[in-house]
Amino acid sequence: MNSFFLTTPIYYVNARPHLGHAYSTIVADSVVRFHKMLGDDTFFLTGTDEHGDKIVQAAEKGGRSPQKFVDEISARFQSLWAQLGIANDRFIRTTEPGHKRVVQTFLQRVHDAGDIYFGAFGGHYCYGCERFYTEKELENGLCPQHRTRPEFISEKNYFFRMSKYLPWLKSYVEEHEDFIRPRRYRAEALAMLEAGALEDLCISRPKTRLQWGIELPFDKDYVCYVWFDALINYISALGWPDDQNFARYWPGEHLVAKDILKPHAVFWPAMLKSAGLPVYGHLNVHGYWLVREAKMSKTLGNIIEPVEMSRRFGLSAFRYFLLREMRFGEDARFSEEALVKRINADLSNDLGNLFSRVLSMTAKYFGSRVPEPSVFLQEDEAIAELCLHSLQNFVRLFGGMRFDAALESLWETVRALNKYVDRQTPWMLYKQGDTARLATVMYVLLTAMRKTALCLWPIMPDASRQMLEQLGSPAVGNAPPVTALGEEGISFDGPSPGTIVAAASNLFPRIEMKKDTPQKT
Ligand SMILES: [Zn+2]
Repeated sequence: MNSFFLTTPIYYVNARPHLGHAYSTIVADSVVRFHKMLGDDTFFLTGTDEHGDKIVQAAEKGGRSPQKFVDEISARFQSLWAQLGIANDRFIRTTEPGHKRVVQTFLQRVHDAGDIYFGAFGGHYCYGCERFYTEKELENGLCPQHRTRPEFISEKNYFFRMSKYLPWLKSYVEEHEDFIRPRRYRAEALAMLEAGALEDLCISRPKTRLQWGIELPFDKDYVCYVWFDALINYISALGWPDDQNFARYWPGEHLVAKDILKPHAVFWPAMLKSAGLPVYGHLNVHGYWLVREAKMSKTLGNIIEPVEMSRRFGLSAFRYFLLREMRFGEDARFSEEALVKRINADLSNDLGNLFSRVLSMTAKYFGSRVPEPSVFLQEDEAIAELCLHSLQNFVRLFGGMRFDAALESLWETVRALNKYVDRQTPWMLYKQGDTARLATVMYVLLTAMRKTALCLWPIMPDASRQMLEQLGSPAVGNAPPVTALGEEGISFDGPSPGTIVAAASNLFPRIEMKKDTPQKT
């Protein structure tokens, strides 16, 4: 059995969860479910990042203590994931005592390896980014992210000898083509690793300036830099160094948005190498959702509330849209119009219509029992072949994080099945009393529908479960409907003849959009 460990970023709790967080987590959930269907031993981790200046500031603004503040926001994330059908195995919080101990063990190990030194430091500090900028990195003296003037701070701090590991890391990335994927982010990471582009990493903050952090094990006057603490969550959640989960699941896979490429592509592998640990398997990087042509932000007022979307349009439809609409790695546009268009075209018109037609015909012609097929004609063989081929493509493409193409491949079959109904005209066969031919046509349809419904489980577990139950599969609860998805692409066998199927289906009702909804510009 292969093990498969996948993480989302741990989300910074200085603000409410939004569409970007929901996308990362829904993608991760779908990928883990896909691996469950391949029969892998999976572990799915998400959580919250709870230390640093920004948290203290946000807590003060809300008139709370940092602990009370992080408890509240972290709980909000956990309840959001429950509402979005996320089945994580572990939710880690960086304020857990267990995580703090692991960070200290890790720091001590890197210190013992001679990779931490104490030095004087002066730098341009952006409170928004919680990091120092070099003169070179500033744009007209301003933080390139926030367009604000950083404060010049000079103090003594601890440094991680990151530069020592950069030549190794650069050749590692060069030798492992898909270590960072898609390709454009690998290229970006390699550009960061160009000789001399990066300095050692400042990993401490004096307690005189910040107390909300994990104390350094070798100097009680300092706390750990929030990124150094946060990245370690990926192994502290597995109980490193002693727990057997670490041996069982590491190295794992990470999924992140493109704004946090650097800490994951540069800091983290160097940290792991220094601590004598194997690096992760892959870093999978996705783009942004643009709303009215801009990245979502509070100031622009274009924040999309994921729970509201799933309540209004259905969780399955919302999850489907996110995976279908964005090409993984690139930016995509979010709008309610686009969401409704996808629901009506793909889900209601193509998929829902197929289920509703075929089930009501099976009820009418065969008393809702799957009929025994007779001889397959050429057109039946063609559909069977197309269906198996699209299932194989789905497995290959989804496994390679190409969710849009994987779904498009499935929909080729869905659309072909609707055409097959129109061409085979079961209602005519029924009128003519050609029961043998009618039985074959209905059997082909029900079989192909079952294969399609199986593939949809990772993306929309609720709708997939309903479809499979309508097709007479026994209820499986939250377990994957099969644990050898690959084998489903080998033979065209469906629900056994005699199985009782549902008499009707109305999975994705059409949505009528109110016309001329005024748009803020
Ligand atoms: Zn900044």
